[in-house]
Amino acid sequence: MVTVLSEVEHAWALLAQVPDPELPAVSVVDLGIARDVQYTDGRLVVPITPTYSGCPAMREIEDDVRTMLTQRFDEVEVRTVLSPPWTTDWITEEGRRKLAGAGIAPSGARMLPLLVEGRPASCPHCGSAAVEELAAFGSTACKALWRCTSCREPFDYVKAH
Ligand SMILES: [Zn+2]
Repeated sequence: MVTVLSEVEHAWALLAQVPDPELPAVSVVDLGIARDVQYTDGRLVVPITPTYSGCPAMREIEDDVRTMLTQRFDEVEVRTVLSPPWTTDWITEEGRRKLAGAGIAPSGARMLPLLVEGRPASCPHCGSAAVEELAAFGSTACKALWRCTSCREPFDYVKAH
């Protein structure tokens, strides 16, 4: 039996191959950055919502998404949507599993060490709230390097802007 994918399904399959520049373990679909695909009359529109505004990675994501989709589609529009704002709730179940597998975060709701009042709420390894900043700039400009004073493990923290 031959399965014929629709154009929208093809678009999703391509999007699933676009890694997040900040968190390459997961794709833009896993993170919920790309949540919708519209295909009308040969024209593909993909609204994307940045995980953190002002981050230079956002332009990179737009370019990566467009480059990937133009492999198959002639007309591609990547539309950045800022409202409603992205939240960690948009991360898919698969995304949460991949992040946990990459050691970025524990499974469950409290995964990415994303901001609570401008600082990580807790250690992504052990959940302790005793965390301290080691460096304002981590592996990329959008991340800071933090360390847990309970389990001593360092972790990246995606900064809010
Ligand atoms: Zn810890």
